Amino acid sequence: MFLSRLSDSDRESVLWDAVQDLQALIRLESVNPPGNELGVARYLHDKLLRHRVESQLFEPAPGRGAVVARVRGRGTKRPLLLMAHMDVVGVEKDKWRYQPFGGEIVDGFIYGRGSIDDKGMLVTNLHATLQMQALTEAGVLPERDLIFLATSDEEAGGDWGIDWVMANHGELIDAELALNEGGRVRVIDGRTVYAAVQCAEKVPHNVVVTARGPGGHAAVPHDGNAVTRLVRALVRIADHREALALFDVTRGFFGQLSAVWPDASLREAMADVASGDPAREARGASQLEMVPSFGAVLRNGISPTLISGGIRSNVIPTEAAATLNIRLMPGEPVEGILGRLRAVVDDENVEFRVKSSGLDAPASSPSAPMFQSIREAVTALAPDAITVPYLSTGATDSATLRAAGIACYGVLPFPLTQDDEDRMHGHDERLSVDALGFGLWLTMGIVQRVTHLPSASE
Ligand SMILES: [Zn+2]
Repeated sequence: MFLSRLSDSDRESVLWDAVQDLQALIRLESVNPPGNELGVARYLHDKLLRHRVESQLFEPAPGRGAVVARVRGRGTKRPLLLMAHMDVVGVEKDKWRYQPFGGEIVDGFIYGRGSIDDKGMLVTNLHATLQMQALTEAGVLPERDLIFLATSDEEAGGDWGIDWVMANHGELIDAELALNEGGRVRVIDGRTVYAAVQCAEKVPHNVVVTARGPGGHAAVPHDGNAVTRLVRALVRIADHREALALFDVTRGFFGQLSAVWPDASLREAMADVASGDPAREARGASQLEMVPSFGAVLRNGISPTLISGGIRSNVIPTEAAATLNIRLMPGEPVEGILGRLRAVVDDENVEFRVKSSGLDAPASSPSAPMFQSIREAVTALAPDAITVPYLSTGATDSATLRAAGIACYGVLPFPLTQDDEDRMHGHDERLSVDALGFGLWLTMGIVQRVTHLPSASE
């Protein structure tokens, strides 16, 4: 099998090759906007071709890129898709200690924008694909095809990325299962404690709240002032809390984490939330909500983000508006929350309008065989770590795949401390050579199990 076929010295050379690939990809600047992912796409495409992998390079728009490659198996099962994005977010250069596009190695860390998000995964997916190709050339065929996909434009909406690939070459990435970014492997006090596998994500909506009222001269105050109405509405919205919304992904997340979490009171709160007993759920939730990132996965979230109104300091405007960024649990209609907010605001002069909505996609089951395969692959490398399902509050390209009927699981296969994870989208983003190695073997372990490679003795 895959990993067991690699000797220690093979592993050394695969890791060293991967380190050099990551350095090279970091040096190919692909900050989005504008993106310019084509250079990264060419690098990946050329490397795949050099290793005789069937690869196609596309240019969705000038300077943008997409790579789709395939290693053919027996075809007795539908394909597994490995996906990662080539664009990165911008940098505040003067806040970096190291060159953000230098790919420098210091004290065992590879520094650079994208080292974690998401060029590290481009490299681990690439090498899993190359290993699979080598195996098929040795006559060992997996049951499924393996598809490698590198997209553009993930950080800015995906119009030239996953959406473009889906609309123009959807047949090339038709798969049963997919592995994407979106999860994490968490290191606490030097130990790899858990791997969170993203199975679902909240759905973002931007809703504009507009208050209207009679205008007039500011010298003559009146009760119908649109600014005052808007503020009153926003205060009521801020005081409103959506109902607790637990489902199998969040129950599984907290229930299993409760066994290993270092802090005793949070451990108890996690067990409460997963208990199925409404009184304990409410008690546990109120405790967990003291950690905002835990609170965000327990119910629908509402954050006012923009506000506008008025034209002059001495004129009462007839309109004032605010934007609410709302994140709903998967499968929840936006009309439902709008109805609740209208009732809470209780003012017929305040109107709600949905300006834009993300894609609503069903959760990928945490009890499906692929989840189990990921868990086994994690255990093989980190025997003490547990693998938990995870609802992400942010949106990823996985929603597009799930909506198209592909079961998609989100990982980030590198063991990271909270500090290292905070560097992604921040300053001095870095990935240790050891973490890259773990990511390589974990990705290969997942691919090996999910494609059901026959063992070497077969
Ligand atoms: Zn990313």
